[in-house]
Amino acid sequence: MQNLQLTSDGRLRHLITLAGLPRAVIERVLDRAEAMRRDSRDGARPLDLLAGRTLINLFFEPSTRTRTSFDLAAQRLGALVINFDIERSSTVKGESLLDTIHTLEAMHCDAFVVRHKESGTPETIARHLRSHACVLNAGDGSHAHPTQGLLDALTLRRRVGDFSRLSVVVCGDIRHSRVARSDVDVLRTLGVRDLRLCAPPELLPAPGTAEFAQCTLFHNFDDAVAGCDAAIMLRLQKERMEAAAIPSEADYFARYGLTAARLARAKPGCLVMHPGPINRNVEIADDVADGAQSLILEQVANGVFARMAVLAELLGGSAA
Ligand code: ASP
Repeated sequence: MQNLQLTSDGRLRHLITLAGLPRAVIERVLDRAEAMRRDSRDGARPLDLLAGRTLINLFFEPSTRTRTSFDLAAQRLGALVINFDIERSSTVKGESLLDTIHTLEAMHCDAFVVRHKESGTPETIARHLRSHACVLNAGDGSHAHPTQGLLDALTLRRRVGDFSRLSVVVCGDIRHSRVARSDVDVLRTLGVRDLRLCAPPELLPAPGTAEFAQCTLFHNFDDAVAGCDAAIMLRLQKERMEAAAIPSEADYFARYGLTAARLARAKPGCLVMHPGPINRNVEIADDVADGAQSLILEQVANGVFARMAVLAELLGGSAA
């Protein structure tokens, strides 16, 4: 995968996963996102780093945050954005995914942002491209959501200095969550040692699953959250579950919902995160989601800067 994602001189070529991405590349993207955030606050003029470039959003699964923020990020860098309308495209006439991609490539575009329910689709597209275009994975099945991992790391990095001293719990539907995988990848690379995964047994991956090696697995959330600096809550991915496996929401909330009482077991000021969309009072209580320790909307804001930084890395040359 590294050969696909990185050029021979170590620059990003595509962004498919954070797994195995060198720390220096991740830190360069985060530094760049931070600089863009500072510039936007200071009212700097919009950048024209991507003037003349075209980005196509190809979302085969629904999205609010990721799609809108890729759109905004690209436009704020001066690119032209096409939100490809899959429902009204020849996809519904049976045109294959790769024929669709090659058709769009023939019109000259520079980047495809791809979300798909099948794990591996962005990688397949990247391997079959016939042009210089790059692929950005906007979430594929339960495999990876790399820009979410980056924006979560950016959000945490702004609040905490040293990742190596952090205790972080990721709680919820770990088994089906691409966010959990990308968060674990990036947090490990940045040095987090105490990474805890908590879920009902049927939503935890089997012990020894390679991508979660070195994480501590918990079934009891009261134990898992104790002493943590950050709690990352996940949505129940019902669309990826067998109907019979969907837990009762009330029961799930009683055992795994982040309530004020549970949050009090963490370190004082424990940061609360959720990638959205949240199911209120299923994964997280209203007062916690909207409370002073919640970074949920800050994550959303940082998503635009993280995506601007990735686009700049991929398409914009070296100067930020
Ligand atoms: N928005 C995130 C994703 O697409 C998280 C979620 O849907 O639960 O993976």
